[in-house]
Amino acid sequence: MATSALIISISQPGTFGNRYHFLPLAVLHPKSVSDISTTVKHVFKMGSTSQLTVAARGHSHSLQGQAQAHQGVVINMESLQGPEMQIHAGELPYVEASGGDLWINILHETLKHGLAPKSWTDYLHLTVGGTLSNAGISGQAFKHGPQINNIYQLEVVTGKGEVVTCSEKQNAELFYGVLGGLGQFGIITRARISLEPAPKMVKWIRVLYDEFSKFSNDQERLISSKDSFDYIEGLVIINRTGLLNNWRSSFNPKDPLQASRFISEGKTLYCLEIAKYFNPDESDIMNQKTESLLSELNYIPSTLFLSEVPYVEFLDRVHLSEIKLRSKGLWEIPHPWLNLLIPRTKINEFAQAVFGNILTGNSNGPILIYPVNKSKWNNRTSLITPEEEIFYQVAFLSSAMPSSTGKDGLFHILAQNQRILDFCSKASIGAKQYLPHYSTQEEWQTHFGPQWEVFVRRKSTYDPMAILAPGQRIFRRK
Ligand code: FAD
Repeated sequence: MATSALIISISQPGTFGNRYHFLPLAVLHPKSVSDISTTVKHVFKMGSTSQLTVAARGHSHSLQGQAQAHQGVVINMESLQGPEMQIHAGELPYVEASGGDLWINILHETLKHGLAPKSWTDYLHLTVGGTLSNAGISGQAFKHGPQINNIYQLEVVTGKGEVVTCSEKQNAELFYGVLGGLGQFGIITRARISLEPAPKMVKWIRVLYDEFSKFSNDQERLISSKDSFDYIEGLVIINRTGLLNNWRSSFNPKDPLQASRFISEGKTLYCLEIAKYFNPDESDIMNQKTESLLSELNYIPSTLFLSEVPYVEFLDRVHLSEIKLRSKGLWEIPHPWLNLLIPRTKINEFAQAVFGNILTGNSNGPILIYPVNKSKWNNRTSLITPEEEIFYQVAFLSSAMPSSTGKDGLFHILAQNQRILDFCSKASIGAKQYLPHYSTQEEWQTHFGPQWEVFVRRKSTYDPMAILAPGQRIFRRK
């Protein structure tokens, strides 16, 4: 182990979920991959005489203590210093990044070469290893698949401490296992991420619908058409006063007078959020294309709002909210989020039961909803999705006010999440949790369904002592 690798014994709580605090015995700040492999190898060799576990900690923004290890070793991946981030131009450009690199830093580095990753998360201050252990889903996923489908190669430290390079062609079982594998098979130390030419600007558009079926039909049409937008998401907005007025701080209404007459209060509305990338010299073509795409949609005409922003500003948009929330002490509060993947044939039933019904308001945080095409997703990874060709990502992104016992309190929000889950189960919606969280192995088995056997087999091959990522609570240490 490099002498500069530091082991200290302090608490490393989750920084965003802020509900789970398991104290580790030690925290490793690795300076090299060999620091990580030596540590894991040592724990592996202790065998069942020890109950020590090891958790890679990315930016620790998972919500239920997934990056923690009770009485174990936490590896602070952001300390890992590998070779500099390397960008390779050419026909299939890529960047080689460390598992502990933040996506925002990858964006800034690749932009120096006029390139950028294709698929993102809505928030970029997360690590490569952290999002690749889940999927990395955002408004580009309908076109490029999630982040885990845009990786050419990984370097991984397995649960035996071996350092293995893997890709579609080399150690493919480990490669696909680790992608979406919830940290169960290895620690990602390097990733080769596919890139595309980066645009300079983004046309960013919002429109509203008051009928769910019109909204979802348009979303589905857009994700299936060939020359569509570059980013497609959506939001549910329940009983919000002065909604369009608030939008004016970042967007311009196409028809200011009509927009000012629009009343959002008391309504359940669906906001389609779309974006088209462009370079300033292609502005005219982009505007023509955008207008033609918009002309085919059935939104409420007075609610068309547009904006043009630099690409970086668009991708890093959530960071602005973070700065504001942090200044009010509202970032590091509990976030009882619920993320579901819902099959297309059940989305109307789901929407009717949940929006404006189980949920009568969404003042606790945004609700995202948008469809993706499974054909763009590689089904060999460990990620579990519904069976159907099109499914929706539905994200209830609530914040809970500390010590509140009211509707904005943790207890109330958790009970509401449970009602949504109960409805899904009773109505056989076929939902799958994204960023899944369960407390028993039976529940995990149900989550994985027919894929459970593969998951267990991969675990016994790559982490037979169940040392890695104990915070996911899938396997017990052997
Ligand atoms: P951590 O919380 O540190 O780790 C998550 C899990 O991965 C843990 O089990 C950990 O042990 C394991 N892990 C960490 N690093 C490694 C590694 N190098 N190798 C192997 N395992 C590792 N997700 C989306 O898909 N789309 C979004 O749009 C999106 N938006 C978000 C917005 C916000 C504000 C936040 C807080 C989260 C968002 N997420 C989104 C969820 C996010 O992708 C996951 O929570 C992710 O795990 C967080 O990354 P992290 O670096 O904080 O990981």
